[in-house]
Amino acid sequence: MSTLPALTTTGGPTVLGEPVVRQLQARLRGELLLPDDDRYEETRKVWNGMIDKRPALIARCAGVADVVATVTFAREHDLLVSVRGGGHSVAGKAVCNGGLMIDLSRMRGVEADPVTRTARVEGGALLGDLDRATQVFGLATTAGVVTHTGVAGLTLGGGVGRLAHKYGLACDNLLSVELVTAEGRVLRASPTVNIDLFWGVRGGGGNFGIVTTFEFRLHPVGPQVLGGIVMYPIVKARAALKFYYEYSQAAPDELSADAFLLTLPNGDQAFAIDVCYIGPLAHGERVLQPLRQFGPPLADQIGPTPYTQLQASGDAFFPPGLHYYYKSHFMTGISEEAIEALVSHFATVPSPRSVVAFQQYGGAVSRIGQTDTAFGHREAQYNFIPASAWTDPAASERHLSWVREAWDIMRPFATGGVYVNNLAEEGEEQVRAAYGPHYERLVAVKNKYDPTNFFRLNANIKPTV
Ligand SMILES: Cc1cc2nc3c(=O)[nH]c(=O)nc-3n(C[C@H](O)[C@H](O)[C@H](O)COP(=O)(O)OP(=O)(O)OC[C@H]3O[C@@H](n4cnc5c(N)ncnc54)[C@H](O)[C@@H]3O)c2cc1C
Repeated sequence: MSTLPALTTTGGPTVLGEPVVRQLQARLRGELLLPDDDRYEETRKVWNGMIDKRPALIARCAGVADVVATVTFAREHDLLVSVRGGGHSVAGKAVCNGGLMIDLSRMRGVEADPVTRTARVEGGALLGDLDRATQVFGLATTAGVVTHTGVAGLTLGGGVGRLAHKYGLACDNLLSVELVTAEGRVLRASPTVNIDLFWGVRGGGGNFGIVTTFEFRLHPVGPQVLGGIVMYPIVKARAALKFYYEYSQAAPDELSADAFLLTLPNGDQAFAIDVCYIGPLAHGERVLQPLRQFGPPLADQIGPTPYTQLQASGDAFFPPGLHYYYKSHFMTGISEEAIEALVSHFATVPSPRSVVAFQQYGGAVSRIGQTDTAFGHREAQYNFIPASAWTDPAASERHLSWVREAWDIMRPFATGGVYVNNLAEEGEEQVRAAYGPHYERLVAVKNKYDPTNFFRLNANIKPTV
């Protein structure tokens, strides 16, 4: 390499000379990968196999100092930057063409403290890293339902999961963050320091800086919980969805219940409810009784289960590398008209890997004040997600259309708000729908902490200064 072509923040061409690149290499404890390095191909890949982008450089940071050095370098050379936490965003925002990918996947440390019931989590940790480290002490905090999702992206956008009904979103359990700003400064944000920034990172996505450490509050959970899946035949889907709606609305905070329309390995379609009860097991059996009484299930796999095992139970459905597309709507209820429209549409499902899901919100999530954090959808009771997965790139259009149709069909029954972490490339209108009532306040935080829009490969809040 004598020179390395790259792209600037605004997408214009630039060229980096070899000595400049070597200087950055020398400043890192981690590695700097260039396109001809052995590890480049595997490192540029993200969870969604549809994303095929080639950064000019990948900085595999080994700590905060590496992140500062990389941000400083990118600023000096006006480079386009993407930030990779777990690499799970469906839009593939973690990677970019021609820019500098700041990869945190070496920074996966989690330190759980059973005395203070807190955990310090590095910016590249995955949910499985967090659960594993905290469950050693019978503790946990809200995390999503697939263990290879990144803590960072999930938390910065909100973060729902099996503990949310009882303990709020992942971002509601944040005590502080440590973050590298666009100027390369290390800042702490908490309820008492940089308060506006702390408000913004709890729902405003990765717009304000690179979070290198998240500090979470932990709660006693498990290690055994009562959980698993109960399935009903598709012919009962309408009645079962109505039952799910009523049952989940009446559920105590200790119970989380998500629902799915899916295809079984034998090709039959089915309706499934995935539950987790984190209170006393004997009491949980009573809470779950109605599920077992509602018609004969196709399968009932609910039982005492280690929490970490339950958290990993969805992993196999979403392996990295397939082509994926999904969209989402927040909903406050599930009407009979919505059920009818949805079940009819599901009959046209394009592949056995395509699903629709209702992820439960409500409970503690709704009791937190609408303006307390930047997450602006406290009224939501469900997140509706039609999702498709496939392997043949030639089939993409069919899958994208099916997801979009499902989303359009449910639009009349939705709040108009969407989950920032489920945005694909939908443009400005959907970004505004994701930040909802907080958009203008988020712009003010962006103006203060990232006025040049250095961090732009995200659900972008555009600065106005
Ligand atoms: C299979 C699957 C299951 C999911 N389940 C859930 C769920 O149960 N609950 C839920 O709430 N969401 C869920 N999600 C959505 C998930 O929250 C988002 O995909 C989220 O973006 C994942 O974060 P990440 O760090 O892996 O993503 P990345 O693609 O690495 O990053 C996403 C965005 O965050 C930015 N970012 C990443 N790391 C940092 C950092 N350290 N500092 C600042 N910005 C950063 C990136 O630049 C990018 O803009 C799921 C997604 C998938 C694919």
